[in-house]
Amino acid sequence: MAIQRPKGTQDHLPDGSPKLSLDTRAAAFQYVRQTAQRVLERAGAQFIDTPLFEEADLVKRGVGGSTDIVRKEMFTVYYFGDHGGYILRPEGTAGLVRAYLQNGLKQLPAPLKLWTHGPMFRAENVQKGRLRQFHQVDYEVIGSADPLVDAEAIALLVDVVRALGLKQVKVKLGSIGDPEDRAAYNEYLRALFTPHLDRLSEDGKARLERNPMRILDGKAPGDQELIAELNVRPMLDFLGTEAAAHFGEVQAHLDAWGVPYETDPSIVRGLDYYRRTAWELHHEGVGAKSALCGGGRYDGLAQELGSKEAVPGIGWAFGIERLLLAMEADGVELPPSRGPALYLAAMDPENVPLAARIAMGARDVARVEFAYRAQKPGNAFRDAERRGATWAALIGSDEAARGVLTLKHLQSGEQREVTAGDLSNFLSENA
Ligand code: AMP
Repeated sequence: MAIQRPKGTQDHLPDGSPKLSLDTRAAAFQYVRQTAQRVLERAGAQFIDTPLFEEADLVKRGVGGSTDIVRKEMFTVYYFGDHGGYILRPEGTAGLVRAYLQNGLKQLPAPLKLWTHGPMFRAENVQKGRLRQFHQVDYEVIGSADPLVDAEAIALLVDVVRALGLKQVKVKLGSIGDPEDRAAYNEYLRALFTPHLDRLSEDGKARLERNPMRILDGKAPGDQELIAELNVRPMLDFLGTEAAAHFGEVQAHLDAWGVPYETDPSIVRGLDYYRRTAWELHHEGVGAKSALCGGGRYDGLAQELGSKEAVPGIGWAFGIERLLLAMEADGVELPPSRGPALYLAAMDPENVPLAARIAMGARDVARVEFAYRAQKPGNAFRDAERRGATWAALIGSDEAARGVLTLKHLQSGEQREVTAGDLSNFLSENA
């Protein structure tokens, strides 16, 4: 058998490919990225691109040593003679904040809104909606701790998914407070779970030791049963005055703007540099366990990466594949792919280069394709239709001598005679 692509990766294919699904359709990815770009850039976000691989330390500090991503899912990059100290990025935030610090972006007007998209890599157990190479759209706002920034970021996420036509989405919003609030909560959890150690899974025990909050988003069913039995108090009960006020303001903005959300005390993000607002976007069609998008404030991240000053930041990222699965579940129709405005064929071999020249000359205004060999009218029109062309034209010796084209509108059958010199004008008005 010919060589196959690695497990957990997908090819994004052109329209018309056999066995095309929404989450492998290249045009669908493009549509999601363009829609996100439109919404985010109108809000002032600028595009940024960072490397696909970064120092291992950036990923370890930026994502957190206690996470599954760092413990089990990192792709290490080796090259000849190298120690393997680079990691394929598993998410975008750490690289973006590194780029902000390294390139002095602090000098730009604050808060700085950035967006990016691209592949991310995690060596996960592969399932539907869980890949080893997947693609994210990522929005980050750096340089402000104002709750208005949090609310706007959430509203923008909702705007993006609505612009994509998604309906059954829900923002689940929480706050994980300030570090001292979290320390108090962790102490409470430790005291609560320690007497029941024997009932916790190995993973649960490890979480209790390293970072008790993360027990709450563990996947072991036995742990979840214990959590339910113990009637665990939510993180929200432990918010200090300032964090509670911040959370109140975020909600007040969202309420005032009519952005739909529900507070969800189970949202936990256990890493030290996360602060305050945290949320997920869920969709009924994709399943409760898998969020379409995760977001949160990370005011401690810049210092974790070596900055002397604290730099507040907040952001979210969604996986395009999962979003496309949700769009499929919601029955969202993507705009159909469009064929060329004009398909041009010559009837005699000596006129093929002329057809090519006319076609290339009209490409400043529209997509124009031509036949590389002389074609009989039947074949030419059939090819034009297969490509989804709007107009088709044949160049015979008469048309070549007179410098005119007879364009046929493939759907209506209407015919129009246009001089070669007028073709661009005609197509810009009629394509
Ligand atoms: P996270 O950085 O884990 O909060 O992930 C943010 C979003 O990226 C998730 O909500 C998913 O939409 C997407 N995502 C994360 N991991 C994967 C994966 N292995 N395969 C596909 N999408 C993923």
